[in-house]
Amino acid sequence: MTTDTKTKILYIEDNPLNAKLVQRVLGAEGYEVLVAENGLSGIDQATSTKPDLILMDINLPDLSGREVTTRLRAMDQFKTVPIVALTAQTDEQQRAMTIAAGVDGYITKPFEVEELSQRVKFHLQGGKEHFKIDKDEAQRQYNQELVSHLERKLREVQEANEALKRLDKIKDDFIQRVAHELRTPLTIIYGYGRLLQTAEPLVKIGVTNPEFGAYLDGLVESIERMHTLVNEILTIYRIATREIELNIGPTNMQDLTEECVTSFSQALAQRKIGLIFNKHDFPTVMQVDGDLVKLVFSNLIGNAIKYTPDGGSVSIKADNDGNVLRVKISDTGIGISKEEHQRIFERFYSTSNTELHSTSKTAFQGGGLGLGLSITKGIIDAHEGKIWVESAGKDEQKLPGSTFVLELPMRKTYQQVTPKAGEPN
Ligand code: ADP
Repeated sequence: MTTDTKTKILYIEDNPLNAKLVQRVLGAEGYEVLVAENGLSGIDQATSTKPDLILMDINLPDLSGREVTTRLRAMDQFKTVPIVALTAQTDEQQRAMTIAAGVDGYITKPFEVEELSQRVKFHLQGGKEHFKIDKDEAQRQYNQELVSHLERKLREVQEANEALKRLDKIKDDFIQRVAHELRTPLTIIYGYGRLLQTAEPLVKIGVTNPEFGAYLDGLVESIERMHTLVNEILTIYRIATREIELNIGPTNMQDLTEECVTSFSQALAQRKIGLIFNKHDFPTVMQVDGDLVKLVFSNLIGNAIKYTPDGGSVSIKADNDGNVLRVKISDTGIGISKEEHQRIFERFYSTSNTELHSTSKTAFQGGGLGLGLSITKGIIDAHEGKIWVESAGKDEQKLPGSTFVLELPMRKTYQQVTPKAGEPN
């Protein structure tokens, strides 16, 4: 006889000794006995293995045997499969509730070996035990038990969820504190570095030893980069926890975008990337937080350069209807796959190659923490605007390009969002 033709019995039991005993007894009778050690895996195994009969312990660690029976009876494939309770519960009330849940037979432990074999055979042949119970009363008690079990489990899940939130907050606070602690010494090192770059005795040394000047420039550039990263981390956490303070005021958008573009002119020239930009597309005055909106343009233009190979082009276009300023920042770069159109705005989501992380932020596919776009979205959200990306997909050969579209309300009065007391700023 092959295993496939054997009558299959699933025993849902958490005690391995009991499971072994039943496996031995029924195995010797020629049955194939499978064991599931808790209620949920019992349901899964029953569905996948389609047993001819199910033996059910009642006290299980997750769902009770009664609940598993109710669940199985709700499925068409188990409406008529014999389910037999095999339990140490001898209490009349427990027994009645188990019957109300839908079992066909009730065997109490300890059982006689002979009795078990006979009862299994009886149920496999379609036999059903005749129970004498008050069905309505048993059903009422079982319903109550179900609801209180559900309530207990919900409370456990709620507590676990609270504990996870607390842990998440501890982690966030830790990252924020580390970033904050790093920022102060970095600012000092950066300041001294800049001083050294222009200190007369060192400038003189640099004239005779040009490599000395290059070392110093490299050092200052790296410190500046670390400083930017630390600031990015601090900014994103303040945005994520809505602790960002909008400093709204009349802002000349033409000057703002021009300054931003100018800060990239060296990178654009080095990478031979053309730029289409006309500052007169932008309004002269708009109520925004100028520093934060500048950071938005800086991130978007920086990315457009970073993800466009040398020789490509970047365009910044804007128009408005008096109510909304709409800006489109397009590039001729590698593009973004459709599945990533949303995800790229999540914290720390980055597709960039970590091997290139030591390179500059404007190198092709260069360094980044995956924070720029989530900071950008946080700032736009705080201004009650919108941002999204349009791109036909990612293709490093065909270069389909990407367009980031952002909309900022032009006549908005903002609710001030203030930092929480005691937070670093
Ligand atoms: P980072 O550039 O540091 O990885 P960002 O938050 O700025 O982080 O961007 C997240 C991801 O979005 C990037 O890793 C990149 O895959 C994608 N991305 C952003 N801007 C562009 C763009 N202009 N072209 C192609 N991909 C982009």
